[in-house]
Amino acid sequence: MSNVQKKGINAPPQVYRALDKLIEVGKIHKVESQNSFVACNISDCETPHATAFSICDNCEVVSEINDQKLLKYLLDFKDNNGIKFEGYNLEFFGTCKTCKKKQTLEINH
Ligand SMILES: [Zn+2]
Ligand SMILES: [Zn+2]
Repeated sequence: MSNVQKKGINAPPQVYRALDKLIEVGKIHKVESQNSFVACNISDCETPHATAFSICDNCEVVSEINDQKLLKYLLDFKDNNGIKFEGYNLEFFGTCKTCKKKQTLEINH
């Protein structure tokens, strides 16, 4: 196992294959705008190609959105031509709680 990992570091294609596999099973998701990966924090996440994240503009912390209403809406979503989609990669930008708190504190000072 450790041998495999060492080889993986020296051989990027293997790393990418491993990542692809993890993405495929929904263990990790790709964050396109950051070109980074995050571990899935939803235990029953079965949507490797349908992800929604909230990203903090300030500290760039990424969290996966697990909002049943939104997910259901997206599942039923059709475009004007009636095409249904099997995948999406949504990223919502804003200020996370921690940063908001910090900003509020700074304003109050
Ligand atoms: Zn997930
Ligand atoms: Zn933040």
